[in-house]
Amino acid sequence: MQPIEMSAVDLVAALRQGDITAVQCTTAFLDRIEATNGTINAFLAVDRDGALTRAADIDARRKAGKPLGALAGLPVALKDVLCTTDMPTTCASKMLQGFRPPYDADVVARLRNADAVFVGKTNMDEFAMGGSNENSAFGPVRNPWDLSRAPGGSSGGSAACVAGDMAPVAIGSDTGGSIRQPAGLCGITGLKPTYGRVSRRGLVAFASSLDQIGPMARSAADCALIMETIAGHDPGDSTSLAVDVPRYTDLLDKPLAGVRIGRVPEHYAEGLDPEVAKGVDEAFAVLKAAGATVHDVKLPHAKYGIPTYYLIAPCEASSNLARYDGAHYGHRAEPGKGHRAEPSQQADGFESPLVEMYCRSRAEGFGPEVKRRIMLGTYALSAGYYDAYYAKALRVRRLIRQDYLDAFQSVDLIGGPVSATPAFKLGEKTDDPLAMYLVDLYTVGTNLAGVGGISFPCGFTKSGLPIGFQLQAPPLAEPLLLQAADRFQRLTDWHRRRPKTTGEVKA
Ligand code: GLN
Repeated sequence: MQPIEMSAVDLVAALRQGDITAVQCTTAFLDRIEATNGTINAFLAVDRDGALTRAADIDARRKAGKPLGALAGLPVALKDVLCTTDMPTTCASKMLQGFRPPYDADVVARLRNADAVFVGKTNMDEFAMGGSNENSAFGPVRNPWDLSRAPGGSSGGSAACVAGDMAPVAIGSDTGGSIRQPAGLCGITGLKPTYGRVSRRGLVAFASSLDQIGPMARSAADCALIMETIAGHDPGDSTSLAVDVPRYTDLLDKPLAGVRIGRVPEHYAEGLDPEVAKGVDEAFAVLKAAGATVHDVKLPHAKYGIPTYYLIAPCEASSNLARYDGAHYGHRAEPGKGHRAEPSQQADGFESPLVEMYCRSRAEGFGPEVKRRIMLGTYALSAGYYDAYYAKALRVRRLIRQDYLDAFQSVDLIGGPVSATPAFKLGEKTDDPLAMYLVDLYTVGTNLAGVGGISFPCGFTKSGLPIGFQLQAPPLAEPLLLQAADRFQRLTDWHRRRPKTTGEVKA
């Protein structure tokens, strides 16, 4: 088997046994990136020299019998929302074009200590706002299963690079579905851990009470491997949980007998594609055959998930993105006429040269969706509207979380679709923000409740597009999420299918 076709678990084992060197492994993925990224646009930066230098160093240390980290030589791609000292961090925004963070995100530092090899930074929706990757300032990503379709978002580059064999593992972030939805649309496996399980330090903030980092890979077993490195307490993130990290890989191979899985009848509402519904039903049948029992559960406030999320996330974003003012961080507009004028003579009615610089920098640096969110959030937080919108959304969020906790009294997991349709066409929803927001119907509840969720392929449509299945679990039940997904993958081979374009896509 070629290295680019191997799982992360197998690659790490092959590297350890000396069946393959880190340089050979890294070269294979870099060559694949070179051949296909021109078409897929999954990467915003590729660090060929850095990756090969690091791989050579790992090989030398292995040869010398020196101790190596748990992921020694494994190529990993990083969503461009994670701070890296050796590569730019742009959040796919003109605002941060060329930005070099002075420190590594906690997950990046952990992966580095584990001797992973970073091949590059992946494309995404600008500041992680979007569900199709079309909000990137550097062009959309194409879905490797059908180049005319979106890979999902916002971690679209991370999903497409794994689906397209450009990296065995990518790190994503999930605020309202951004790991699980693109994983579902690209036929890979993605885990959004419990809020606080993985440190957010060095993750450029979108909506801080919802943001969570997680692994995206071909299988649950690969995600478990990565979780052992990236999870854990970080004193630098006050919301990270001081809870021991389980040996996720050791907990995988357990039967599902006695595991109770909830099914939400409302998930089968109007708008759910019949082929997706069929795939989801078949996934429940596989889990049942593996010994799990399936029970109907209610999430009575789930219908308020989208409005609640689209108030809380923009409110937090409007506050988090205030820092991009042209002075502290990011793009600064060229001094305009107004900068030299007396305050009383400001061009275009700006109150002062400073205000003009702020306004022009933000107008030039942010794309339309980011501006829309900032305006929505600023409006909802403004005096007079705060109670009616933001405070109310927080109360509904509390009810949504309670729904989950109540449901988890009678079931161990909740299963269902990841998104209502398979991958949609590029451009199909770009003129209709509301249609794009509705894509997040099945994923935002997990974030609002602060629990964990995993998405993995459970079938394909007749036209050959992957269908995703989602499992959600109570706080910190990642071992069970991974175990159930892994059991499913031992019984099915959907996650082993590769896009037809593999090997054929040319730059
Ligand atoms: N699609 C959602 C949004 O646009 C989720 C994004 C995310 O999880 N980062 O906000």
